[in-house]
Amino acid sequence: MDRPLEHTHSYYAASRNPAPDRPVLRGAHHCDVCVIGAGYTGLSAALHLAEHGYRVMVLEAARVGWGASGRNGGQIVNSYSRDLDVIERRHGKAAAAALGSMAFEGGSIIRERVAKYGIRCDLKQGNVFAALTGKQLDELEAKQRLWERFGHTGLRIIDQAGMKDIVGSGQYVGALLDNWGGHLHPLNLALGEAAALESLGGQIFEQSAVLSVERAEPAVVRTAEGQVSARFVIVAGNAYLGNLLPELAEKTLPCGTQVIATEPLPAELARALLPGDHCVEDCNFLLDYYRLTADKRLLYGGGTVYGARDPGEIVRLIRPKMLKTFPQLEDVKIEFGWTGNFSLTLSRLPQAGRLGNNIYYSQGCSGHGVTYTHLAGRLLSEAIRGQSERFDAFARLPHYPFPGGRLFRVPMLTMGAWYYSLRDRLGM
Ligand SMILES: Cc1cc2nc3c(=O)[nH]c(=O)nc-3n(C[C@H](O)[C@H](O)[C@H](O)COP(=O)(O)OP(=O)(O)OC[C@H]3O[C@@H](n4cnc5c(N)ncnc54)[C@H](O)[C@@H]3O)c2cc1C
Repeated sequence: MDRPLEHTHSYYAASRNPAPDRPVLRGAHHCDVCVIGAGYTGLSAALHLAEHGYRVMVLEAARVGWGASGRNGGQIVNSYSRDLDVIERRHGKAAAAALGSMAFEGGSIIRERVAKYGIRCDLKQGNVFAALTGKQLDELEAKQRLWERFGHTGLRIIDQAGMKDIVGSGQYVGALLDNWGGHLHPLNLALGEAAALESLGGQIFEQSAVLSVERAEPAVVRTAEGQVSARFVIVAGNAYLGNLLPELAEKTLPCGTQVIATEPLPAELARALLPGDHCVEDCNFLLDYYRLTADKRLLYGGGTVYGARDPGEIVRLIRPKMLKTFPQLEDVKIEFGWTGNFSLTLSRLPQAGRLGNNIYYSQGCSGHGVTYTHLAGRLLSEAIRGQSERFDAFARLPHYPFPGGRLFRVPMLTMGAWYYSLRDRLGM
């Protein structure tokens, strides 16, 4: 038998709340909904469905939260990777109104979950978009106006003088603070959601990679040692799905992004870096993102390098970025470095839809997925329960395969250059 897939050596795995090992799927089972993947998309959908009395089984190839959901920056960022003005220009006012009415819902779902199920995940309020140039600050002012137009409140522009109360770095000219953003321990959120699901009778199987999906009614989902017949299937494998369903694989590109975590910092130094304890992302395309953990480490992510796995290599990649922002950390030790895959789409908008009548999917948040995946879980649950209007607002968005298919599944640095030049040429 293959070696079990355990959590990557991250700060999150090292500081996770106690959780049981779930059984491997063996034998034949039946349920209402079989979910493939125990990241936020799968867990959120499963939990919404279980709350409505559905019998749900989640099959996870590795461990709960093993993928991006247990490795990410932990930043609760509202809206989508492509913002509402682009959606309005490209897909019209009705699409923008529909998606805009949901753009701030994912964060609320997370907060409701944390409160309702008592999930311990170090939840904090407030995220900051930091501008490195005057042009970026102008764009942030436009973002504030845009989001306010769609009913989002709690936004505040910070000028250069005010930045000293936000970030202890000289490189920013200003920022937008979203008080309804925030940050948390992402793996502990996933583990808490899994426990909540089980408290409602939902079942989770780990080390149970799905090897095939038979498109029938009921659908039959097979693993190495078992199978599940289900009225509905939800595909939530995102960047780790591989080629299980080729028509989903061809529309996304898995991209690696890397994170490091310092040793715990003295309280005064931590406060000097991030006086308001907000999380921060800058406004570059290949953006840097960082925040303090509950035990006052600086967790710093950035870059998108395909396949950088070795912790030493990751530290060599990310530490210079951290020192550019915070030169005062020159002598601070880096204790963790890890990588994770997110799923990029050509339009940078998430993809949701159906394969046939009873197989549903959501994927491709293109870097900002903590909030969208929670919304997606609710929408998948609504659609399966027969209320698909909101799900269909996403399902209607057109999506295109990456030209060249598998040929283009090559290192992200090459892809990135190609992707951004293509995007610019198409005016996307
Ligand atoms: C390093 C990193 C930093 C990020 N930072 C942020 C951030 O700060 N804020 C933000 O909003 N977004 C961030 N993101 C993006 C965000 O984490 C993802 O969009 C989100 O977690 C995706 O959730 P998911 O459930 O769709 O996929 P995943 O969490 O990747 O879960 C998919 C699961 O499916 C399982 N699976 C796949 N195939 C099969 C199969 N055949 N059978 C069974 N199981 C299968 C995998 O093992 C995996 O556990 C980041 C991503 C990364 C990688």
